[in-house]
Amino acid sequence: MSIPLVNLKAQHHELKKEIASAIDHVLSRGDFILGADVSSFEEEFAAYCEVEHCVGVGSGLDALVLALKGLGIGQGDEVITAANTFIATALAIHHVGATPVLIDHDPKTFNLDPSKLSQAITSQTKAVVPVHLYGQPADMNRIEAIANEHGLKIVEDAAQAHGARYGEKRCGGLGQAAAFSFYPGKNLGGMGDGGAVVTNDENLASWLRSARNYGSQVKYSHEIRGFNSRLDTMQAAVLRVKLRHLDAWNARRREIASQYRELLQSSGVVLPTEHREGEHIYHLFVVRCGNRDEVLSVLNERGVGAGIHYPTPIHRQAAFNGDCVVPNPLEYTATFCDEILSLPMCPYLSDADVETVSQIVTQYATAPQSAEAEPAIA
Ligand SMILES: *Cc1c(COP(=O)(O)O)cnc(C)c1O
Repeated sequence: MSIPLVNLKAQHHELKKEIASAIDHVLSRGDFILGADVSSFEEEFAAYCEVEHCVGVGSGLDALVLALKGLGIGQGDEVITAANTFIATALAIHHVGATPVLIDHDPKTFNLDPSKLSQAITSQTKAVVPVHLYGQPADMNRIEAIANEHGLKIVEDAAQAHGARYGEKRCGGLGQAAAFSFYPGKNLGGMGDGGAVVTNDENLASWLRSARNYGSQVKYSHEIRGFNSRLDTMQAAVLRVKLRHLDAWNARRREIASQYRELLQSSGVVLPTEHREGEHIYHLFVVRCGNRDEVLSVLNERGVGAGIHYPTPIHRQAAFNGDCVVPNPLEYTATFCDEILSLPMCPYLSDADVETVSQIVTQYATAPQSAEAEPAIA
């Protein structure tokens, strides 16, 4: 038996012909750098996110770095984000010369807790980077209200939230700018690295188009000291094919999540909570249990690709030892990293796969120490 965490082979099997023909077009044209598919994808992805501009870049990390830099964040500034995110969020803040300020998350949604935000703001704070972790939009109404009150910029880390809705908008349209990753395993992923910044700010978009391409809009004329971080044409061509399937894939992820919910109802594990205002698109399906390591090894032994996102919070990583600010105790970040378990989640999981995984979890998992009865909707 083998049930992978993410099944890219099944996805490729379905799209094989479309992708081969998209790549063949690129090969025939030979426009490998900033070719026709890049601008077409940028238009299509901006429209999809319901924003004005999309600028394709080399990775999700670069998208965060360039968005922050383009908004003027730099040396001496502080940027607040959640301590339970992937390392890239904190690295981007560091790479522009600013200091990451890490705060705790809401125990129900796993997303940055807005009630901890105000206390972390100092005269140095310039921006907040909410991460829509696991595919669920952060509590943006409250975050935006606090950011506006203190004149902070909002850069969304939307690397796990392609297509997630929040109120009338989509993730990507909820701040000054948003960073997406097209790493292969994301809800929208390419055949290698890729990323994009989306924004409604025309000046920022134009700066980004230059900054990603050696600071140049006209060949050999360099108005700023830029980077080489361009979404390549081959990736853009593949992403255009996949974008057409994204809504259906996200719908299937939500369906799988509700199957898990039903099957794991009385298993003792704490199920993910859906926030009322956002639509969770389940990049990951993360439960909490008391004997996580045991359940994980049983699953892995039986060919089930479960994982941990993430086992070590940012402030405990060697890379950030002493180089970040933790203004308040990180109560949930510290305890949850030993309890969280990501079950297989991808649109190609069959109903039978979901049942098999749920049976193993039900048989072996115990409730976490801190479990209370959690309502399904926060
Ligand atoms: C994947 C990811 C990134 C980084 O994306 P890359 O394309 O791998 O550089 C950033 N933030 C979060 C939350 C991610 O999940």
